[in-house]
Amino acid sequence: MGLLKGDAKTEIAPIPAEQSLMEKFHSARYLRALKNAVAGDRTDEEISMGIGTADCPIFEGLYDYAVLACGGTLIAAKMILDGSAEVAFNPSGGYHHAGPERASGFCYINDVAIACIILAEAGKRVLYLDVDVHHGDGVANAFYDRSDVLTISFHEDPAVLFPGTGFENEIGTGRGKGYCVNVPLPIGTYDEMYMKAFESIALPLIGAYNPDVFVFELGADALAGDPLADLCLTNNVYAEIIKHLLSFNKPILATGGGGYNVDNTARAWALAWGILCGQIDEYDLNLGIGGVMLASTDWPGGLRDREYVVSAQQKNTVIPIITKTIEAVKANVFALHGLCTHND
Ligand SMILES: [Zn+2]
Repeated sequence: MGLLKGDAKTEIAPIPAEQSLMEKFHSARYLRALKNAVAGDRTDEEISMGIGTADCPIFEGLYDYAVLACGGTLIAAKMILDGSAEVAFNPSGGYHHAGPERASGFCYINDVAIACIILAEAGKRVLYLDVDVHHGDGVANAFYDRSDVLTISFHEDPAVLFPGTGFENEIGTGRGKGYCVNVPLPIGTYDEMYMKAFESIALPLIGAYNPDVFVFELGADALAGDPLADLCLTNNVYAEIIKHLLSFNKPILATGGGGYNVDNTARAWALAWGILCGQIDEYDLNLGIGGVMLASTDWPGGLRDREYVVSAQQKNTVIPIITKTIEAVKANVFALHGLCTHND
């Protein structure tokens, strides 16, 4: 599609992340255990760190893979810092569940947390936005007591989905109070209500926080038809969110994330990149909305999902829950940013 080269865009080969950079988040002990992990030879230490579990299996080349994937995100951070890139996208990044000494949820090395640390150390006000269907717990925890990285995570209700955290009352602590924002969403959440939550919560917070840079975890597992989750979004939501982010005129470091319906994920990320790099313009964006009504998992050609048909029952369930969540999040964090908590 010509999305990778030309018109001031290029494809950059990743290089493995440097040990010293990974150690800004992970312990040396954990990185050593990950490196030493080999198929069929699991130690108690590895198991205690989540390495070699069902969600985080040990496989041939695991360490090199994880370090290279992280390296892609760190090159993106470096290019944004030195001004050589305005927008960068590492589809093989976004491993937001990994902890300092913990592999979790298919994530071994938390490239996004490390990128946020590097950007913050360079004096940037970082806005971490996570639209993966799962709570971005590893990143939220990393900055839970800090105000120089504001984390906002939209995800399916943690009462019914991994990792079980990310309720609206988890708002950060100490200096970080109000700088961790969680927006749990009910099963069946669809485009219109998702965007209502995004526009009611994220947009005012981004405006008030006035970040220097966005780190955007773009998991595609919130799309309708994902086998691991139960939200019902189309990729038009990702397009709309990116359009909003671009309007702030700040650099954007985007990464992939989850996404287990592979075709839908590939199209969502191709669309996302096309918009991020300015190749697919707003006119194209609007063409996709209001088309023939088919299930969003039916591929009509092109990058956009079909409109998702929302049932009356779905609306009756989703609207009151999201309306209440928006009120709760506003009540919990808006005043800490000088924002009005009233609903309009
Ligand atoms: Zn996910």
